[in-house]
Amino acid sequence: MSSINQSGWKPEMGNAGDTAPATYTGNKALMLEEALIFEIGTAGTTGVDLAEAPKVTARLGNLERHRDIGLPGLSEPETVRHYTRLSRQNYAIDLGFFPLGSCTMKHNPRLNERVARMAGFADVHPLQPVETVQGALAVINELAVWLIQLTGMHGVAMTPKAGAHGELCGILCIKAALEARGDPRSVILVPESAHGTNPATAAFAGFLVENIPATAEGRVDLAALKARLGPDVAGVMITNPNTCGLFERDMREISDAVHAAGGYVYCDGANFNAIVGRVRPGDLGIDAMHINLHKTFSTPHGGGGPGSGPVVLSQALSPYGPLPFTERHADGHYTLVEEETAGERHPHSFGRMTAFHGQMGMFTRALAYIMSHGADGLRQVAEDAVLNANYILRSLEDVLEAPFAHSGPCMHEALFSDNGLAEGFSTLDIAKGLIDEGYHPMTVYFPLVVHGAMLVEPTETESKATLDQFIGALRSVAERARAGDTSLKSAPHHAPRRRLDETQAARKPVLVWREPDQAVAAE
Ligand SMILES: *Cc1c(COP(=O)(O)O)cnc(C)c1O
Repeated sequence: MSSINQSGWKPEMGNAGDTAPATYTGNKALMLEEALIFEIGTAGTTGVDLAEAPKVTARLGNLERHRDIGLPGLSEPETVRHYTRLSRQNYAIDLGFFPLGSCTMKHNPRLNERVARMAGFADVHPLQPVETVQGALAVINELAVWLIQLTGMHGVAMTPKAGAHGELCGILCIKAALEARGDPRSVILVPESAHGTNPATAAFAGFLVENIPATAEGRVDLAALKARLGPDVAGVMITNPNTCGLFERDMREISDAVHAAGGYVYCDGANFNAIVGRVRPGDLGIDAMHINLHKTFSTPHGGGGPGSGPVVLSQALSPYGPLPFTERHADGHYTLVEEETAGERHPHSFGRMTAFHGQMGMFTRALAYIMSHGADGLRQVAEDAVLNANYILRSLEDVLEAPFAHSGPCMHEALFSDNGLAEGFSTLDIAKGLIDEGYHPMTVYFPLVVHGAMLVEPTETESKATLDQFIGALRSVAERARAGDTSLKSAPHHAPRRRLDETQAARKPVLVWREPDQAVAAE
């Protein structure tokens, strides 16, 4: 490990600080400047040489386009350079440590990529006859069996395409179950610390959302929750481990109370990576929980690819799950249960969430990850993720306030606040300082229950050397913020772009466009 700078950053230590002479091109050595595509493209340029399109009769009537809409044209080499240059200004898990809390930016094993690219998986089409895609259906089924086993639940809906989509699936199951028993209810209770998708999902499904307060420990206030339960409460949505990085120890008691009051328990399982192999949500009385395959089981996400959010369901909710799903027959052959074939075996389904069976590329990657780790390896994933987060928490709690450090060990993420920074310095300054140090910042200002929150999730795939260097960098930046080092207020100094005026950017966005045959206009 080289050059951990524990002593504090000084501008002259940088290699391209403000005092460096400007270059003719605007480039900084091999870090190439790149203009907007609208500034470099021209209407007449094209990267392809196609024959003039034959005249066709307009079928769109008034909607037919009569003028050029002014899209910029580039030649092929210009196009390749434009996007490659932009990609070099981007940050990725394959470039460095990515401690974005709640997002689980773990390494994506290359074995998964290899498997996902096998022609039998990569080239199948969802409308192919099922006899020709038996292997793909077997993968979906095998993954479903693993998810049911790992969670101790009764069934699983594989089709939701992300965590938030899974939330909607689970809440629609709850709604269908309540309607089926002739007991429509109007309220979903959500803790204050919840991810924004939870209240958004409940509201989208037509429920009123009410907050449950947190205790000083950072966990759900059980007494307040019990006091609010009643015949109008459809259910609760609780994240476990929660977004303060803590395990909800009262989960079993919460579930029992909600069930006794006739409601259902939705668990936001985005943080399942902290407990996989150690805790089965089914044992905690959960009725529905989404699993972010792209977090817990390492399938690429963010700029790297789509997500997948299967929802495991209790026995009570399974009859209401969506179509289609795969079914394995005694002779080992697979079919799809769809509207036409659901018949009497699945008459209560709330319907269909997606056109087809789900995110095949994510299924193959997640199953490859699960099978290459095995049951014991998955348990170690959770243990190492928790160990790494506690290492970060305890290594930095002397320079950054850790509001729940007294609540016991954290789970897979360490939470800090901006308490103790010099007057006028904030979490944003620390995040920008980390960019200069070459790190994607941690999650900032979430969860909302902590002032100036900084949520660091190291994941299990980082080495101790990587964690030590990050701890050194964050310590250095935090010390500068505590000491009131004003150079931090204008960080980043070394990034392709300096600090943005975020208020200005939100209130007066600059939109650049080109009217046909005119120069670039900007406002
Ligand atoms: C990531 C996350 C979600 C949403 O998942 P998406 O796949 O991004 O839709 C919901 N809740 C929590 C706690 C999360 O971390």
